[in-house]
Amino acid sequence: MSESSEVVAESVAERFQQLYGGAPDGVWAAPGRVNLIGEHTDYNDGFVMPFALPHTVVAAVSRRTDGVLRLHSADVDGPVVELAVDALAPESDKNWTAYPSGVVWALREAGHAVTGADIHLASTVPSGAGLSSSAALEVVVALAMNDLFGLGLRGWQLARLCQRAENVYVGAPVGIMDQTASACCEAGHALFLDTRDLSQRQIPFDLAAEGMRLLVVDTRVKHSHSEGEYGKRRAGCEKGAALLGVDALRDVPFADLDAALARLGDEEEVRRLVRHVVTEDERVERVVSLLEAGDTRAIGPVLVEGHASLRDDFRISCPELDLVVDTALTAGALGARMTGGGFGGSAIVLAEEADVLAVTKAVEEAFAQAGFKAPRVFEAVPSAGARRMR
Ligand code: ADP
Ligand code: MG
Repeated sequence: MSESSEVVAESVAERFQQLYGGAPDGVWAAPGRVNLIGEHTDYNDGFVMPFALPHTVVAAVSRRTDGVLRLHSADVDGPVVELAVDALAPESDKNWTAYPSGVVWALREAGHAVTGADIHLASTVPSGAGLSSSAALEVVVALAMNDLFGLGLRGWQLARLCQRAENVYVGAPVGIMDQTASACCEAGHALFLDTRDLSQRQIPFDLAAEGMRLLVVDTRVKHSHSEGEYGKRRAGCEKGAALLGVDALRDVPFADLDAALARLGDEEEVRRLVRHVVTEDERVERVVSLLEAGDTRAIGPVLVEGHASLRDDFRISCPELDLVVDTALTAGALGARMTGGGFGGSAIVLAEEADVLAVTKAVEEAFAQAGFKAPRVFEAVPSAGARRMR
């Protein structure tokens, strides 16, 4: 655990005490995530491969037994929000408080006796940057409730409940990847997750030991208007599966892709979506094989292929993301791709340690030249999943 998260835990606990007039029962942390490869596969029952960031949502929490839920975030102006747990209702709340309330709602819906809590949290996960601050926020609350109410739920079970909170309570149609990543990732590893049966495997991904670095470039283009586009892609994938007579696009084998595309005839839009999803699942499997064989540098070109597929077939990139990828590759990066939902958010760049400064500088200069907002560049060290800190 890094010293900085210890410092955050201390200040979150202190603020909790000021707000609620007593020390918290405990402090928990849950990380944001970056998806290494496997984009827009999670709602097609496919494969994803996220890893956890060192950036976390840290929550100080105390248990209550009187049905009251009190919420406060250091990152949002405003007083403590007080709610009654038995009055929580899906899509009744359009504010940030819908995420933690949704988790309490989902736990109670599933029959768990969660009788209230006082929560104060603070986050170092950039919000709306495609790094899943929303899942980190849900998972930290779920884990705290799990511990404080002795629910005995496993990481993947908490992830499912958090997904339900976001789907039904918040009203955002997200897949299972983000919550599982935040709940289940391990330091120095990426998580190979089969989103159909939720089976998972920790894949060694310790770049520093091999003289490489992975950079996240937050374009600072907000992806908040992307919901409609996301819905369209999702509907298009479902249409593709229906036309091909499979439960989900995951069931189209890579070896049969050409035949499947031929069967889709003049459904050009659907063909492009299908091609992305089927090739992306294959890319995840290829990255897993390469990493397990210790051939880490060879994943670079696979990341680049993934970006081209998202840009040209899935059509969810944007000029800022494309500029990061093109500039980083020209400056000597091993690979780069957009990550997350698209239409902004962040890109990842894999580079030799010796090239990190040059790549960073090149991207910053290219953004300045293009008249884009200055990007935020930071190193992403594969870090631990959700945990209790004190
Ligand atoms: P992402 O998950 O990619 O960061 P989302 O739009 O899914 O983006 O989630 C962002 C939302 O999560 C914010 O609009 C806010 O409602 C909530 N959120 C994130 N971080 C915090 C925080 N520190 N405090 C309160 N709410 C937060
Ligand atoms: Mg989110």
